[in-house]
Amino acid sequence: MNHARLKEIEKKVIAGERLSSAEGEFLFSPEVDFHAVGELANLVRNRKNGNLAYYNINSHLNPTNVCEFRCGLCAYSRDAGDPDAYVMSQDDVVRRGREADAAGCTELHVVGGANPDLPFEWHREAVRSLHDSFPRVHIKAFTAVEIDWFARRSGKSVETVLHELIAVGLGSMPGGGAEIFAENVRAEICPRKADGATWISVHRTAHRLGLRTNATMLFGHRESYGQRIEHLIALRELQDATGGFQAFVPLSFHPENTKFADLRQPTAAENLRTTAVSRLMLDNFDHVKAYWVSLDVGTAQVALAYGADDLDGTVRHELIHHAAGSVAPEALTVERITQLIKEAGREPVERDSLYRRVVREGADWRAEE
Ligand code: SF4
Repeated sequence: MNHARLKEIEKKVIAGERLSSAEGEFLFSPEVDFHAVGELANLVRNRKNGNLAYYNINSHLNPTNVCEFRCGLCAYSRDAGDPDAYVMSQDDVVRRGREADAAGCTELHVVGGANPDLPFEWHREAVRSLHDSFPRVHIKAFTAVEIDWFARRSGKSVETVLHELIAVGLGSMPGGGAEIFAENVRAEICPRKADGATWISVHRTAHRLGLRTNATMLFGHRESYGQRIEHLIALRELQDATGGFQAFVPLSFHPENTKFADLRQPTAAENLRTTAVSRLMLDNFDHVKAYWVSLDVGTAQVALAYGADDLDGTVRHELIHHAAGSVAPEALTVERITQLIKEAGREPVERDSLYRRVVREGADWRAEE
């Protein structure tokens, strides 16, 4: 029975037909061999991206870990006044930008806590000074949760906040904060921050303004397989409407140091199956990332045969997943990341934030149009 149903799904995948919610949920069921799901995802991945596997040279910048939402899922945030709470100064931000630029980074990934002492104008100034000082470095900044928070704090609309950020150099948005859209799960893991409908609405507005964004799904905590599929379908529907998403990033939950420390971390098989099912359900997304900080390096490498076509980047200064117990290295060198890709039988391509091929000559680089 399972075999016949999998065969039917295989026929649809080969024909390029869209899978239903029920089919997606079936692919999560433990009775279905996850290698078989991976093979189907690999077909789609190869159809979309050939043998290429992307990476970029990037640095993270987390201006503050003080956050008024204090989500149960989060090991990174602190209350103001905690001994290890921190807030960067604008000089710190520029210093970090200088370091990234000197290291050849093409992208700064900027996300942080919702710190009540840092108004929207502080964040806008940070983007402006980074962009003015290092104009060739793409600024991918602020989750939809932060954008919604800036809007509520400043009394401005989401559209105005985004307009003002684009005007000073915002290049694109990351996909964080999506977690799982199901409200009963959010009530447990992140009850106070923007809900799923708000996350979708912020990205819809960003796409309308011409910003490309990413999307994520945090899995492996309290959610059901059905809720994972609902999440993926909500993303697929928005992508149908706007076409503004670039990449989907499945994020494996790290329970250590969170309110859910008693949960077991998803296994490699679960990480690979979730990557594969995501690739199969999100037929209108060009790219699926295997974010090695979240999946771990070995699983991310194998995920290049389970639907993923992108290892994310070298990732200097990652704090958020490491706070939750990620044992992945602090950063990968370009040599290491390209070796991982080649060993997986793929052709490495350095990309910029908009998936243009990067060509380097000495310390200089340019993105091919
Ligand atoms: Fe704040 Fe984000 Fe952590 Fe929630 S997950 S507490 S919004 S930093």
